[in-house]
Amino acid sequence: MYKILSRPERVISVSIPVKMDDGRLEIYEGFRVQHCSALGPYKGGIRFHPQVTLEDDIALATIMTLKNSLAGLPYGGGKGAVNVDPKKLSERELEQLSRGYVRALYPVLGELVDVPAPDVGTDPRVMAWMVDEYSKLLGRNAPASFTAKPPQLWGCPVRVYATGFGCAVATREAAERVFGGSKGLTLAVQGFGNTGQWHAYWASKMGFKVVAISDTSGTVYDPNGIDVEKAIKVKNETGKVVNYPSGEKLDDPKSALYVDVDVVAPDALENQITLENHRLIKAKLVVEGANGPTTPEAELELFKRGVTVVPDILANAGGVVVSYLEWVQNLQWYWWSEEETRAKLERIMRENFERVWTKFEELKRNKPEATMRDAALLIALQRIQDAVRARGWL
Ligand code: NAD
Repeated sequence: MYKILSRPERVISVSIPVKMDDGRLEIYEGFRVQHCSALGPYKGGIRFHPQVTLEDDIALATIMTLKNSLAGLPYGGGKGAVNVDPKKLSERELEQLSRGYVRALYPVLGELVDVPAPDVGTDPRVMAWMVDEYSKLLGRNAPASFTAKPPQLWGCPVRVYATGFGCAVATREAAERVFGGSKGLTLAVQGFGNTGQWHAYWASKMGFKVVAISDTSGTVYDPNGIDVEKAIKVKNETGKVVNYPSGEKLDDPKSALYVDVDVVAPDALENQITLENHRLIKAKLVVEGANGPTTPEAELELFKRGVTVVPDILANAGGVVVSYLEWVQNLQWYWWSEEETRAKLERIMRENFERVWTKFEELKRNKPEATMRDAALLIALQRIQDAVRARGWL
């Protein structure tokens, strides 16, 4: 299994020509990594970022193989990237790049082959250009070939808040097991972008009291509770969370991790809870909305203090789960209501959580140092191994 999973099945490197607005020709470097197809078509986002490397893309594709397996989806893992700073492109240049990426990779994409979605630096607008380009090359509309598209192009309206909603369900499920309930528990959220905003919003609807939020502008702390809807409005209108009109303002964006709360959600970036700062965390429960926010060394220290960490591949899977639900609808040209789709997402998140928790309890009986992450990885790897064996690869 290690030999199979330690190398991607296929790596494609492409050169994408774009005629810039000033007449220059620029060639962008792009990748698509198709990591493992044992469980189904490859699935994973496309990242537009100035620092992406092929090695990063391989690592991210590997994480997708594990996340898709753990979520019980009929997908293998994939990931794509273009080495570019999308903020420096005009809208026309961005469209040319998005369409060029699809033209370069057309032979290895497709609704039953490899189904991309957005990632850092890409969004539903980019998916719209990509699905249009793909459909033109194919000669028919192929909505299921990309997910997280705008609603006008067969996108699912739940997708925009799916990751945060899934995080909130995971937070509630974990709180019930760790604290015996969730009503009135305090929550602090670091990072107030797509994941953090919707995590805070849905958790507050579920009865948590959100007392701290942060972004790169700083932290807002209000022990009486933050009005999350108002905070989202302020963040979207002014770009800064610290413009929220009440509460205490702290300069350090990481302060949200350190306030005296029951649950903390690192929803911003990787490597936020480390050996240097883990002692400052007062919460008994950490729910990883971001990918890789806790270093393995810090997780061990938190474990020694009795802190439970809900791992990223479980907590933030809501996005890919709704991408799957969008894909199923698109393949059948069928439509579920927003409420129906959200109910399906909630059920899948709850069942996944229950599976991981049961495995975690079982592991702890023989190995007291086992973590929820160990349990999640074991389930994910077992499912891939069963498929690999059934196929006769092992
Ligand atoms: P985003 O760009 O929408 O938001 C990131 C937020 O974090 C911004 O508000 C930014 O100001 C803030 N931030 C950056 N550095 C910070 C710091 N040091 N302290 C506090 N805040 C900081 O990104 P996103 O889509 O919300 O992604 C966040 C994380 O969630 C990433 O790790 C991403 O891989 C992961 N994730 C996102 C999705 C999704 O569907 N959006 C799905 C799975 C995982």
